[in-house]
Amino acid sequence: MFAHKYKAKMTKCKDKPHPLGIFRYCPVCGSPNFVTNNEKSKRCADCGFVYFFNPSGATVAVIVNERDELLVVRRAKEPAKGTLDLPGGFLDCAETAEEGVAREVFEETGLEVEQCDYLFSIPNIYPYSGLDVHTMDLFFLCRVKGTQEAKAMDDAESLAWIPWEQIMPQEFGLLSVRKGVIRLKMMWTNKK
Ligand SMILES: [Zn+2]
Repeated sequence: MFAHKYKAKMTKCKDKPHPLGIFRYCPVCGSPNFVTNNEKSKRCADCGFVYFFNPSGATVAVIVNERDELLVVRRAKEPAKGTLDLPGGFLDCAETAEEGVAREVFEETGLEVEQCDYLFSIPNIYPYSGLDVHTMDLFFLCRVKGTQEAKAMDDAESLAWIPWEQIMPQEFGLLSVRKGVIRLKMMWTNKK
């Protein structure tokens, strides 16, 4: 069943420009003969170098306070600048996803993550610098120290604690986060 689904997705991709379309030269030898190898990779016809396009790992933090309110941030930067978001961001090389989500929460809110538990993942496309960066967003439920200490920093322009019933998924600009918020809201509603 999974193989069938995968094939359907690959066929659909054929109508779209190649994800590595803006990479015109081989990054190893500089040859312009850097050609499509398959739907996910390009190959240098001169030196044989092959580069695969895989999703970048990213994290999303779900932080709820003692009043059952969700911590949301307003995006300070493009893409989707000015829309609502959840704290999080790209993983650094060689850190665990748990370390990555704690680092991003600290950078954006000043809060220290004491414990985090993996919830689910949603793929996303993040347009940046003319490249559609494909991401795999990993959602974590994070328990933090001293929720009242939260302050907006870095990629967060401002932040707010919002009760679940007042959360409007359409106000979240990044598609994966919007889908995640819909799913989370349903999880919280069913828990009651
Ligand atoms: Zn080459």
